Amino acid sequence: MKIDKAVATHVRVPFVEPFRISSGCVAEKDAIILELHSDSLTGYGESSAMAGHFYSADTPEKCWSELCGFVLPAIVGREFECPENWNLSLDGLGAGNFTKAGVETAFWDLAAQIRNQPLHVVLGGGKEQVESGLAIGLYDDLRDMLRAIERYLVDGYRRVKVKIEPGRDIDVVNAVRKTFGDIPLFVDANGAYTPEHVDIFRALDQFGLLMFEQPYPGSFLEESAELQQLVETPICLDESLETPEQLQEAIRLGSFRIANFKIQRVGGFYRALQMDGICRKHGLTAWVGTMPELGIGQAQGAALASLGNFVYPTDVEASNRWFQDDIVSPLIHVQNGVIDLPSEPGLGVSIDRAKIQKYEIASRSFSQ
Ligand SMILES: [Mg+2]
Repeated sequence: MKIDKAVATHVRVPFVEPFRISSGCVAEKDAIILELHSDSLTGYGESSAMAGHFYSADTPEKCWSELCGFVLPAIVGREFECPENWNLSLDGLGAGNFTKAGVETAFWDLAAQIRNQPLHVVLGGGKEQVESGLAIGLYDDLRDMLRAIERYLVDGYRRVKVKIEPGRDIDVVNAVRKTFGDIPLFVDANGAYTPEHVDIFRALDQFGLLMFEQPYPGSFLEESAELQQLVETPICLDESLETPEQLQEAIRLGSFRIANFKIQRVGGFYRALQMDGICRKHGLTAWVGTMPELGIGQAQGAALASLGNFVYPTDVEASNRWFQDDIVSPLIHVQNGVIDLPSEPGLGVSIDRAKIQKYEIASRSFSQ
């Protein structure tokens, strides 16, 4: 496929309520929507870093400057054949993973349209719908958190994950268990703890949680392995797993039992598939996390979650769960806790031009 034109549009959409985790709080969702045009086809992607180093060193401004400065000018007018091919080119440019993910995934959308198959089928997925889980941020008042869970559980979400941080952990889990009983539940610390907090995890071990997601900072692989020896609850790594090399090292050390893969964090589908292959080889299961992204990124997450080794519900949720609006058509829906995957060729989701215009911060087009 030859890329005739590429368009990047920076949009900003308000959250339903500010989203707070252990590393900060955001009230608006930034994303850069990518369009790659090839003949009459358009492939969509999303570079979805959060404002202000929320989850990563990548920011919307950094992605914008990489995309417009050198990534998009380098691919327009060129031919690409297969995922290996466009990944090699993109890796050679040296942009961050969030930047790369936006473009890499748009290539896949185009490739699936050319093959006349839904993207999830091209990725190797075998499901027609995927299970969705509810993720709940930090709240000052536990009652507000419980109300949030109650409000969304009616959509049938298949599990609940709650964010924790030092000082807001055992009470949080205790309150959820007391209110909602034996629901499938786990915690995500976003790396906010260190080995001095090991007793917190020993205490949390008593609640029958599905997993402890990223208890320690991303680089603490040995410490995570030590913690895994002390608790029965499986440790899930998220921020630690940016590259296949880091994944191999974490497996070698025994740092985790479950992997969370985010398309943005690993730089697109190709790397996510590679890393899932490594997990399968070692008998380790996984699931698909989100930033969360707007609808393009969310639809991509649902497509990836259709692969067989992603056995836990994904963090991909309905469009109206996080955002006051979304820039895609159709919106992402969760019904009875599942998301139906599209049957049309490609990603199966396109952008709503009126919405893009409404939330646009900047737009740039590159053609031959
Ligand atoms: Mg996480």
